[in-house]
Amino acid sequence: MAKILIGIDFGGTNLKIGCFDEKLTLLIKDSIPAQINAGPAAVVEKIGELTARLVSLCGHSTYDIIAAGIGTPGVVDVENGVVLATSNIKFTNIPLRQMVRDRLNVPVILENDANVTCWAERVAGAGKGAREMALITLGTGIGGGVITNGELVRGFAGNGGEIGHIIIKQDGRLCGCGQRGCIEAYGSASATAARATEAIAAGGKSSLQKIIETNGQISCKDVYEHSAAGDELARQITDETAKSLATLCINLLHITGPRRIIFYGGMIEAGELLLEPIRKFFNEHIWKIRKESIELCFAALGAEAGIIGAAALASYEFKKGKII
Ligand SMILES: [Zn+2]
Repeated sequence: MAKILIGIDFGGTNLKIGCFDEKLTLLIKDSIPAQINAGPAAVVEKIGELTARLVSLCGHSTYDIIAAGIGTPGVVDVENGVVLATSNIKFTNIPLRQMVRDRLNVPVILENDANVTCWAERVAGAGKGAREMALITLGTGIGGGVITNGELVRGFAGNGGEIGHIIIKQDGRLCGCGQRGCIEAYGSASATAARATEAIAAGGKSSLQKIIETNGQISCKDVYEHSAAGDELARQITDETAKSLATLCINLLHITGPRRIIFYGGMIEAGELLLEPIRKFFNEHIWKIRKESIELCFAALGAEAGIIGAAALASYEFKKGKII
């Protein structure tokens, strides 16, 4: 009987699970509400039930599972399989890998969700085959993953590869993590909307004012739309977002030297409006000593990246004998 891999994308809202064959072809997937308020044990039970149902629906038994991978938000101790801390779901020091392993009775790897997405893009997306790459997820916050010499950077105690909290401005804006000046406080969707709102509150004139009057607030999407339509204030804000992301790319370049930097997440819906100025500022500000061609591009995978990456990582780590 052919063997299968399980990819689990555990988000704050939904729990997505996919069954894959050994070549990482998706056989079946489903998504259910994660209902995290019920606690870790209840979430693990849901993982067990949904996995068993999907495995059966694609004509397999749980004995055919080679390994399972789980992507979760937050800081993860990969070696010990523990969710150390998360900001949006209140899981602290949860031994999620062991819990899922006990429930499914298969080898399991637990990894931070942005790292899982990074791995998915490396295996099946815009970074296919790259040994040196980075992925930046642009949403409410900023996350990411770094691959160097073909391996994910995890660092000591899960602190490595936390791209969103690289400081780009000393004593700058306060970030949700408690540090000041993080890229997340400048280049994320929420920071872009917040900076525009602040600029208008400080007396700036903008066509965005009507949106505030109608909706009570503005979104990052509004800022990009008004920037594209020629609004001066919105343009300044989107340029500032682009400059901050270009700065992050240059910093990444000098740490691990990625060949390709890939953008993923809700903000990339802005398309070239987002990417073109990042490339412009990147090229203007990067050092002039020696200029290799670094590609800045969009991710190729969509919402399925979480389950693909989790299954692919489980397969990779299992083959290396890292998970049993
Ligand atoms: Zn931060």
